[in-house]
Amino acid sequence: MSSDLPAGFSTRAVHKSMGFGGDTGAVSPPVFLTSTFENGNPAGFDYTRSGNPNFRLLDQTLASLEGARFATTFASGVSAITAVISSLKSGDRVLAEENVYGCTYRLFERVFAKFGLKAEYVDLSKPENWARIESAPPALVWLESPTNPLLKVLDIAGISAVAQKAGVPVLVDNTFASPYLQRPLELGATISLASTTKYINGHSDCLGGVVATNDPAWQERMIFAQKALGLQPSPFDSWLTARGQRTLALRMERHSANALELARWLETRPGIRWVRYPFLPSHPQYDLARRQMKHGSGLFIAELDCDCESALKFCRDLNLFTLAESLGGVESLICHPPTMTHASVPAEVRRQVGIGDGLLRFSVGIEDVEDLRQDIDRALKGIHL
Ligand code: PLP
Repeated sequence: MSSDLPAGFSTRAVHKSMGFGGDTGAVSPPVFLTSTFENGNPAGFDYTRSGNPNFRLLDQTLASLEGARFATTFASGVSAITAVISSLKSGDRVLAEENVYGCTYRLFERVFAKFGLKAEYVDLSKPENWARIESAPPALVWLESPTNPLLKVLDIAGISAVAQKAGVPVLVDNTFASPYLQRPLELGATISLASTTKYINGHSDCLGGVVATNDPAWQERMIFAQKALGLQPSPFDSWLTARGQRTLALRMERHSANALELARWLETRPGIRWVRYPFLPSHPQYDLARRQMKHGSGLFIAELDCDCESALKFCRDLNLFTLAESLGGVESLICHPPTMTHASVPAEVRRQVGIGDGLLRFSVGIEDVEDLRQDIDRALKGIHL
């Protein structure tokens, strides 16, 4: 595919990840299972830790989908986060959204704090808190939108505009939206990061991460971190992810349509305290979500009017939603944050931040929505709701 060919999102998703067929004419690129390359080869590869055809193809495809000049892929989302944080220095401060992903928080507090990095947490859904970016400029602003697990939607353009004035880079973890639904760089962010394990690959069969940026200095840091810290993805995982992302647009349309329909229905059903989904008018940042996202994605949360035990029974009684961590695959999953992702957080603190005993996170797959609805309805009746 010629690089100057104007093309839509799905055309780029399909065609940018082809190449290196060599003289075989292979339409699907081979997997380059090699640790090293003969010195002086025309494509400039030397050692797979710093470059391999499979992740070079994936880098260029994901850069194109994010609307970025550059993208660097990593072994997991956590590796991508590590690459960015390791580029900061001792004494630097990061201003982070308070509902940041748990492993990001753990990296800040249990790994990088030891090396003198300080993270401060604030509710970035409140514009009055953006003043902290100007009053004491941090080295980096870190946010997610929508957030995990509360699905808060943060104003990427608004926060980026304030940060830009203060000369502060902004990172957006775009995992929950994917570049099909939201492109943070076009909204003014400096870095868009994602766990490709989720929607971008979409098939729950490998891990990966990506950092996209237009800034050559950040790109240089990512290439350095990939090589120096050994954070590179495997060629096979890159191949799987390149295959998965070709259908991203189709999948996101279906994930979003299914999730909207289920969330809308659940909201009207008895026994449900509340439902939160960015494209439901009841979501506190509904207007903002509609401005910065194409659709609402496949995730919604709901609180059942029940205790932990009944919530878990509900999850186990479901046939089509597997009780499992992770999200974004073609198959539906369900997670009970109080006993899974947030089990280590004391119950009182959990309740304060909005994680009640009956809270559930639905990752809606691409199955037939009526089958999913009936499955939920039957399991709710099983706990008398
Ligand atoms: N960012 C977000 C928002 C996530 O939800 C996750 C994983 O759930 C990650 C990053 C980390 O990704 P990975 O599991 O691929 O390391």
